[in-house]
Amino acid sequence: MKKAGVFQTEYVDLVIVGGGMVGLMLAAALRNSGLHIVVIERLAYQPVLSMGLDCRVSAIVQGNVNILKSIGVWQYLEDKVGVMSSMRIWDGQEQGGIRFDAEEIGQDKLGILLENQHLIDALQHTIDESHDVEVLCPESVVSVVWKKQGVQVSLESGRMLNAPLIVGADGARSWLRTQADIDVFSRDYEQKGIVATVKPRFSHQNTACQRFLHTGPLALLPMKDDMCSIVWSASNDRADELLGLSDEAFLDVLNLEVGGIFGGIVEAGKRAAFPLQAQLARHMVRPRLALIGDAAHSIHPLAGLGVNLGLRDAMVLAQEIVDARKFDEDWGDMGVLTRYMRQRMPDVLMTMASMEALHRTFQVRWPAWIKLRGLGMKALGNAGVVKSLLMQNATGLNLPVPYAIE
Ligand SMILES: Cc1cc2nc3c(=O)[nH]c(=O)nc-3n(C[C@H](O)[C@H](O)[C@H](O)COP(=O)(O)OP(=O)(O)OC[C@H]3O[C@@H](n4cnc5c(N)ncnc54)[C@H](O)[C@@H]3O)c2cc1C
Repeated sequence: MKKAGVFQTEYVDLVIVGGGMVGLMLAAALRNSGLHIVVIERLAYQPVLSMGLDCRVSAIVQGNVNILKSIGVWQYLEDKVGVMSSMRIWDGQEQGGIRFDAEEIGQDKLGILLENQHLIDALQHTIDESHDVEVLCPESVVSVVWKKQGVQVSLESGRMLNAPLIVGADGARSWLRTQADIDVFSRDYEQKGIVATVKPRFSHQNTACQRFLHTGPLALLPMKDDMCSIVWSASNDRADELLGLSDEAFLDVLNLEVGGIFGGIVEAGKRAAFPLQAQLARHMVRPRLALIGDAAHSIHPLAGLGVNLGLRDAMVLAQEIVDARKFDEDWGDMGVLTRYMRQRMPDVLMTMASMEALHRTFQVRWPAWIKLRGLGMKALGNAGVVKSLLMQNATGLNLPVPYAIE
């Protein structure tokens, strides 16, 4: 029951709504900034276990692994991750294929694979090192009132907070975005992404594989201990069909589609499915409000970049807040928030456009187009410098890293 009148308004420096991977990343990046931060999370994260692993996994590109290291999160993760040193992509409808190796860009890995639960735990441990960050869970916001000098936030528990800035990190269906009356551009792929843990016959040798089937991409991602995680995007009808199969029948269909990679799949765990949508908020910022992560943009998981974009949003916003404080600026002011938005927009728009182009390219079934696609992949595979530039981009290694977060 709400205990109205019992609580006095508390003044804090930042309120973050949503304690998923991106909201916690922002709090972790700012934990030693001296700011009093409150994170409000509606529900504790519930992993969906498949062969004992959380079947929601994320590929984190090397540029973001470097960021996790720089803010002290990596120490809680390093023994829990799968390494991705190569990636093979091939066309399920043609001969064409392409291989990317970390050594082509002078790295030992392209990125890592981890269970979402582990990233959330690691961020939480990092935050626990500070007394300045409060994570309230389970807790919800009842109302938000935007005022000229700050935002007033009433919580389910009855607490009342006043802050110069509120951040929406509450996911693709952001409640805060709706409260701020911000509309979205959206594209429903009419697909679901089926995820599960699977065991290949042979070692995956730290190689991620993606096969573009005409029904959608199927990815095999290298996890720790030679297990793999699959992300299989398929039309809603096909996905429901796949979800309804017995374990044995699913394994047979999966083996047919993966085409013998890693000697085939010998066991598949429990399956779960997520609807696939691309979405972009019409405004990433408003006075006293910034959106980060899926609340601002969500993309098709075919290249595993969604949370990577969100982690970079969190870091850039953290940097702008730290800088604003250093120069006595109000970090809820549009001047500061616009700097955040301007830095993030090119990366977000480029990534969204590339995902859309890739998705469309592999949806087309005209024989001439399929041939051309095969030739294009072959040409890219031999394209030396262009290929390395593409890899630098995809791994986030050529993006500026926030410089002064300590
Ligand atoms: C099948 C699939 C595979 C994917 N694979 C990858 C991958 O390999 N690599 C990658 O980079 N990305 C991947 N993604 C995308 C990635 O999962 C998302 O981009 C990421 O989860 C976004 O994180 P977030 O913190 O912004 O939002 P969310 O993960 O949605 O977290 C939002 C949080 O806010 C909380 N919340 C919601 N409403 C409220 C409220 N009103 N009050 C308080 N709290 C609230 C929620 O409980 C949740 O904890 C994948 C997505 C799918 C569907």
